[in-house]
Amino acid sequence: MTDMLAIADNDDLALQTVRVDLGARSYDIVIGRNVLDQAGTRIVNLKPGARAAIITDETVGKLHLDRFRQILTDAGVETTALTVPAGEASKRFEMFERLCDDVLAARMERGDIVLALGGGVVGDLSGFVAASVRRGMSFIQVPTTLLAQVDSSVGGKTGINSRHGKNLIGAFYQPDLVLCDTAILDTLPLRDFRAGYAEVAKYGLLGDAEFFAWLEDNWQAIFAGGPERDEAVARSCQAKADVVAEDEQEAGRRALLNLGHTFGHALESAVSYETERLVHGEGVAIGMMLAHEFSHQLDLLPKEDVTRVERHLLDVGLPTRIQDIPGQLPPAETLMDIIAQDKKVSRGNLTFILTRGIGQAFVEKGVDPSLVRDFLSEKLAQ
Ligand code: NAD
Repeated sequence: MTDMLAIADNDDLALQTVRVDLGARSYDIVIGRNVLDQAGTRIVNLKPGARAAIITDETVGKLHLDRFRQILTDAGVETTALTVPAGEASKRFEMFERLCDDVLAARMERGDIVLALGGGVVGDLSGFVAASVRRGMSFIQVPTTLLAQVDSSVGGKTGINSRHGKNLIGAFYQPDLVLCDTAILDTLPLRDFRAGYAEVAKYGLLGDAEFFAWLEDNWQAIFAGGPERDEAVARSCQAKADVVAEDEQEAGRRALLNLGHTFGHALESAVSYETERLVHGEGVAIGMMLAHEFSHQLDLLPKEDVTRVERHLLDVGLPTRIQDIPGQLPPAETLMDIIAQDKKVSRGNLTFILTRGIGQAFVEKGVDPSLVRDFLSEKLAQ
């Protein structure tokens, strides 16, 4: 047995651990305010003697890199830092190639660690680097956006964009550890916090009515950074971990996590991913509203539930209508073309996540495209 360093037992640190159960590839997500203070000790215990290539973006780097490196150095972890520009454009081949070369140039071995310090962009890109260099290095995620903490760092999807579309090149590659420091979200701009919150609300809406009701009562404390924030992150990670453990490669149930995403992705694509107009979580919020309204139109869902979802999204300041997106949008036919190209389409059938009530989403294969087109035309005309 290796010598384990004692992890400081600090009363100020109330931590929660979510285990992602994937057999030999299982790992822990440790959540709490200032859990980063323990990062060095935890890494030494997990990978004794390993060095770490920290990949971050310029914004997160300026705010958090020095302190983070110091924490690792203090625990005896040797680090090298690699920085990419902030934003989605970094999820591309050239950046991937540069990072792979830089990790090799730093003489990192297979047992050394690629460590992602950043949002979903850094996490997806770094994970793909970790999966590829030397056919798979150790990978640790320190997600710094709410979206990354509750969604992109859980489940092992990594990758980059291609000129043919988003996230089309990549690998399923699970990390060895995820550290979610909820205090690091204090520096996140409100718009990004809200966007991540759309994914938190999604977990309630897709399968946990009690969690959604709890969010309705506690969202202000979550935004303010109270212990409720830790609770919301932990419950979201647990919800995603449960689905991923059942269906790692998205053969079935994992598709539920796409609630609101088919419409949301189409809207993101329709604005050419211009984040001034729409960020991913805002697309998801509008998409979730559309999924609920469409379910109501199909007589699956009572109107009161549609109203309740809208009220909550509006309360937290998220957009709920296509008209909330600034500027012109293409007609329904174009949105349908985008939806048809979506990777969730199999053999011409549209797969949608519909719902029978709050917390009662289900996967519906073979939705009639003409119903969706008419619904979208109606929504665009409102
Ligand atoms: P992001 O990584 O671009 O971060 C958003 C912005 O916040 C960036 O400008 C970043 O520099 C800044 N930022 C990050 N942390 C900060 C902090 N603590 N303080 C201040 N600023 C901070 O975007 P995101 O929303 O985190 O992630 C979006 C990406 O995640 C997309 O590329 C999407 O495809 C991907 N994604 C992946 C999965 C998956 O399962 N792998 C799931 C959902 C989304």
